[in-house]
Amino acid sequence: MTKIKMTTPIVEMDGDEMTRILWKMIKEHLLEPFIELNTEYYDLGLEHRNETDDQVTIDSANATKKYKVAVKCATITPNAARMSEYDLKEMWKSPNGTIRAILDGTVFRAPIVVKGIEPCVKNWKKPITIARHAYGDVYKGTEMKVPGAGKVELVYTGADGTEERELVHTFDGPGIVQGMHNVNASIESFARSCFNYALDTKQDLWFATKDTISKKYDHTFKDIFQEIYDAEYKEAFEKAGITYFYTLIDDAVARVMKSEGGYIWACKNYDGDVMSDMVSSAFGSLAMMTSVLVSPEGYYEYEAAHGTVQRHYYKHLAGEETSTNSVATIFAWTGALRKRGELDGNSELMEFADRLEQATIDTIEEGSMTKDLALITTIPNPTVLNSEDFIKEIAKKLS
Ligand code: NAD
Repeated sequence: MTKIKMTTPIVEMDGDEMTRILWKMIKEHLLEPFIELNTEYYDLGLEHRNETDDQVTIDSANATKKYKVAVKCATITPNAARMSEYDLKEMWKSPNGTIRAILDGTVFRAPIVVKGIEPCVKNWKKPITIARHAYGDVYKGTEMKVPGAGKVELVYTGADGTEERELVHTFDGPGIVQGMHNVNASIESFARSCFNYALDTKQDLWFATKDTISKKYDHTFKDIFQEIYDAEYKEAFEKAGITYFYTLIDDAVARVMKSEGGYIWACKNYDGDVMSDMVSSAFGSLAMMTSVLVSPEGYYEYEAAHGTVQRHYYKHLAGEETSTNSVATIFAWTGALRKRGELDGNSELMEFADRLEQATIDTIEEGSMTKDLALITTIPNPTVLNSEDFIKEIAKKLS
């Protein structure tokens, strides 16, 4: 069998713990036998990030700007425990945060839907993709405890020294106050990423805020989306047969529950934080969620939405058998390969991505799966496979 060739590399970002083990198995059994894999490799494993003073993370993000497509393995975000476990020089920042800051992207998270793993919302038949604006609002807020009677104002001092004031509240007694911001440039990038991704995936785009209450803050989000849509995307949306739909956040939530899915739901930062966890748990499993960072310039970084599955890794190190779900990591690879194929006009590569996804779905739907899925499936008497055997089972289907 001749292997599929790749003209341009994909940026490969290796990671940590159990997902690093799965990464190697996926390449060995599902990719390398079929493709002449062409990647530019960056080791984002915590040890190597520490050795390079985290320069490797920055380099991998810059490489993504060059090649436009990256695939990333889950990585450890260090905390106090990791400082001593890995003898770190510094508490390095989250790689995802660093990469997102360099690519200025929006994260789209979507569940992988298979028969036998049924969402608890019965009418959800197709994936609901959540797009979360990842800048500002309450996440970059400033807060104060107001000690007692007095007034709180918002003060804007222009670059030329002119001042504008707005009363927040006149307090009779103690209370609390919060100031938050966003910037038009970030909202504009968010909007463009969402419109581009909707066109890319041929799905409707929903966006919702509370503009009836927040007449300047939320209303600005609504206006920016509408202006960019009208000026830059309306025609392309009509041609593609998809729609952009704006509504109030409470109306959106009610409609989402009654919908059958199959659209992108763009959310402000806080809404996205909350709603993505609701959607992923309602669809069944964190291990079945994919995630892609899309920049307004058209750079794509694909990954699984879950972490490094630390507990399984310690079992693996102790020589025990693991049954870790590799589906989202496989779909991170297929997402990247399909996008690479699309950008390079390499239809063989795109077809391979489709076949690998189908082989993965068929394996589960025919009853062979990892333990996490076996616990929640409606398929009777599922076969529980260990981490490697599950991947090998998919490989059998593929060849
Ligand atoms: P986690 O996603 O690794 O695990 C959360 C829970 O879900 C665990 O109970 C785990 O057993 C289960 N789970 C997750 N993925 C699974 C899979 N593929 N198969 C079977 N079960 C699965 O998150 P965590 O435990 O909070 O974090 C572990 C590490 O991952 C931390 O160091 C954290 O910093 C990192 N993390 C990285 C990313 C990323 O790189 N995108 C995201 C989240 C967490």
